Amino acid sequence: MEFGLTDEQRAIRDTVRDFVRKELTPREPAVLARDRRGEPGLTRDELTALQAKARGFGFWGLSTPEEYGGMDLDAVTQALIHTELGRTYVPFTFGGEADNILYEANDAQRAEYLLPTIEGDRISCFAITEPGAGSDAANIRLAARRDGDDWLLSGEKTFITGGNDADFAIVIALTDPAAGARGGSTAFLVDRSMGWRSSPIVTMGPAEPASLFFDQVRVPSSHVLGEVGQGWQLAMRWIGRGRYLIPARAVGIAERALSMAVEYANTRETFGAPIAANQAIQWMIADSELELEAARLLVLRAAWLVDSGADARHAASMAKLSGATMVNRVIDRVLQVHGGMGYTRELPIERWYREVRLFRIFEGTDEMQRLILARDLLRGYTKVGLG
Ligand SMILES: Cc1cc2nc3c(=O)[nH]c(=O)nc-3n(C[C@H](O)[C@H](O)[C@H](O)COP(=O)(O)OP(=O)(O)OC[C@H]3O[C@@H](n4cnc5c(N)ncnc54)[C@H](O)[C@@H]3O)c2cc1C
Repeated sequence: MEFGLTDEQRAIRDTVRDFVRKELTPREPAVLARDRRGEPGLTRDELTALQAKARGFGFWGLSTPEEYGGMDLDAVTQALIHTELGRTYVPFTFGGEADNILYEANDAQRAEYLLPTIEGDRISCFAITEPGAGSDAANIRLAARRDGDDWLLSGEKTFITGGNDADFAIVIALTDPAAGARGGSTAFLVDRSMGWRSSPIVTMGPAEPASLFFDQVRVPSSHVLGEVGQGWQLAMRWIGRGRYLIPARAVGIAERALSMAVEYANTRETFGAPIAANQAIQWMIADSELELEAARLLVLRAAWLVDSGADARHAASMAKLSGATMVNRVIDRVLQVHGGMGYTRELPIERWYREVRLFRIFEGTDEMQRLILARDLLRGYTKVGLG
């Protein structure tokens, strides 16, 4: 068993760490100030300029195949990068990426959607959740009805990340209600100009998803992504990616926050001694490191399974559950170690506190991950212990 990184993985991680330190960390005070005013941490122009700078030294399209100008990195390296980016709260992502399922595009769709999305000229969003179908995603009702050579889409999607900015949506719609979502749903590429509307949803954190409204939106059949009836399969593939990248980011956030707690515990004095002298504080720090390292291993194992071509779903659910719950506990303890200062908006801790709460909800709640883990074991899909 080998726990070390390859030279290439280490070099990539160090380059990203350097980029974070030089280009992103200095922007943190501005991000906090904007957060207090309810504004996004980076403007679109700032993000584009940073992405262009990163492209200058080859960081463009982490998951994008080389034939499209990307780096086509393995899942472990991508997880390492997401962890590094998690160490800052500047909301940066490398450019040159497209939703993994957009690669199902045919030639015409590739030119119209995939390539401009990779280049950053078009913005996508992915929409499966509806007011009546979140965890129970198979309960979607947004219907696509055939009308000649077109489809007419009617219904509502909700909590869609990027739905306010996207100029097209990948919409999972019911095309065969009798077959249900698993066999009777289809993915459509639907331009905003075809007639859907969006309305922002204010949340407790920096995320601002949207509700999308479709009222007889006419979509040509040439805009079906993949095959008719393949919608569920594509949706699950889209969601599967976040199951190890979200907790990878959680690990980075926890690393940074825990480092702050260690420093604060050593410098803040009460009763004539640093608070670090108290076992109550030491235990919060020790438990946090323990849980952080356990989550890191689960994330890397899930990513490693993806790279090895094995079915990584069970391991990814463990990583997601572990990372999401770990980062919430760690941030809570880090806030506690900082006392009143932790509760202020002078420091980023309360911001993380609000941000990471989402990790336990989106792309499969904690409860859904537990349901998957238990179901796999109880039905014998997976076995207890290392195989
Ligand atoms: C900021 C944000 C961004 C999002 N981005 C997207 C996006 O880009 N695209 C998209 O399609 N969706 C997106 N979502 C939707 C997200 O995936 C759903 O919110 C999530 O799946 C939970 O669904 P729900 O909110 O309807 O909760 P519900 O399904 O109503 O669940 C409510 C509670 O009941 C629990 N529960 C439900 N069923 C069971 C059960 N059988 N056993 C035990 N407990 C259960 C849940 O775990 C939860 O605690 C986003 C959500 C948020 C908040």
